[in-house]
Amino acid sequence: MVPGARLILLGRQGAGKGTQCARLSRHFVVPHISTGDVLRAAVREGSELGRMAKSVMDGGGLVGDEIMVGIVRHRLSQTDAQGRGYILDGFPRTVPQAIALDEITADRPLDVVIDLEVPSELVLQRLSARRVCRDCGTNYIATGAEHLPWLCDVCGGDVMQRDDDTPEAIGKRLDLYEQQTSPLIEFYAETGRLVVVDGVGTPDQVFHRLTDAVTSRR
Ligand code: ADP
Ligand code: ZN
Repeated sequence: MVPGARLILLGRQGAGKGTQCARLSRHFVVPHISTGDVLRAAVREGSELGRMAKSVMDGGGLVGDEIMVGIVRHRLSQTDAQGRGYILDGFPRTVPQAIALDEITADRPLDVVIDLEVPSELVLQRLSARRVCRDCGTNYIATGAEHLPWLCDVCGGDVMQRDDDTPEAIGKRLDLYEQQTSPLIEFYAETGRLVVVDGVGTPDQVFHRLTDAVTSRR
């Protein structure tokens, strides 16, 4: 039996977290918990959370810490996450969220926090070409020749450009990342839980670096 894992993946927008988390989730047989996906699902359902989140997300801002902590606390209390573990993608995004997460996971601490490192110039290029399946979240790279929406190879859903992948919102999200999320890297480094993994390379190369990083730390 493959052992589970309790992981956090940090990294700039466009670092390839979504793609790698999906693979890691299959490899370690643990749920991939993407707070961005949770919020986008709420937007599609038109719930109260979704209506609130949409305006924040479209502007490239951050949803409040209290709401996000509530969502994650609830998700991590489910049986799958309690049993085998989880991969958190997009959470924590601020130091207060990280402090709350330490409290939530006090009885079963994280194995490792991975910073998937990709230079800003490269993520800008990747984000403008990024297309995403609305239904299952699979990422694609557009060549520019396709008509939108095209159909997802995995689930048949509509593949589109995210509303927040506009140049303005991308710029704002990258700025916010530097301001709010990069202090997290320090937070986890100081507590000896951080491993930096080079995110430049083919998806297979990056995946092997990631599984090595997890296995060596567990
Ligand atoms: P990206 O990493 O490309 O910005 P995500 O899919 O992780 O995309 O998140 C999309 C948006 O959802 C964010 O820009 C933010 O508005 C909101 N969001 C997701 N996770 C969090 C979080 N932990 N705290 C605050 N806002 C969040
Ligand atoms: Zn799909």
